[in-house]
Amino acid sequence: MGKGTQADLLNQRLLACHLSTGDVFRAAATRGDDEQTPAMREAFAYMHRGELVPDGTVWEMVRERGECLHCAGGFILDGFPRTATQAVSLKQFMDKERLGLTAVINYELPSSEIVARLSGRRTCRKCKAVYHVAERPPKVEGRCDRCDGELIQREDDRPESVKVRLEAYERSTAPLIEFYRNAGLLLQVSAAGTPEEIFDRTLPELESRRLTLFAEQMWAAEENRRDT
Ligand code: AMP
Repeated sequence: MGKGTQADLLNQRLLACHLSTGDVFRAAATRGDDEQTPAMREAFAYMHRGELVPDGTVWEMVRERGECLHCAGGFILDGFPRTATQAVSLKQFMDKERLGLTAVINYELPSSEIVARLSGRRTCRKCKAVYHVAERPPKVEGRCDRCDGELIQREDDRPESVKVRLEAYERSTAPLIEFYRNAGLLLQVSAAGTPEEIFDRTLPELESRRLTLFAEQMWAAEENRRDT
């Protein structure tokens, strides 16, 4: 739905570590059969149908990349957590590692527009650049502007998978909005418009949240210093 593009843009600006669970699954899917674990093979089947991969498999994969959360530039988790169980696992892990979240961004878009965006999306088989048949068409139909690779439709962007993805979102992911609102971390950002417009709305919100958090930490440190 464009969150990967936003994560990439934020990443270029902030020099943070970008961990996309969807990208990790897709990269694993292109490996040879002998390099894939049974859990990974099972994960691809869920993914292609548009269903959520089971929490245990997702968490195993995030935990293996736990050092990413210690990156000096910070980290961007893209597409994770997507269920309450994943959110609790993340919280427990971060508490243990003395890490914190600055914000959780929820990109808002009516479902009819989500369907139009996902079903028109095309991805370069070679370099993974993303296009849209109507909003961001390539110069030559079906070919990537950057590397001339073939543009394909992701299996989970087919209409039948998109329907399943939206249902999974409503059932499992939407409840996290309340969870993170209650935690004081939620940033609601409209996903209408071009990637650049969305980015221009996201960055100031995030920067202001980072500044507030920094000021609070300075204030707490000063209070501690006075008390000792
Ligand atoms: P994405 O690229 O983030 O849209 O993810 C593509 C697909 O990968 C999703 O539709 C799911 O099948 C799977 N996936 C990615 N992240 C998660 C997650 N946190 N929990 C469960 N499934 C996930």
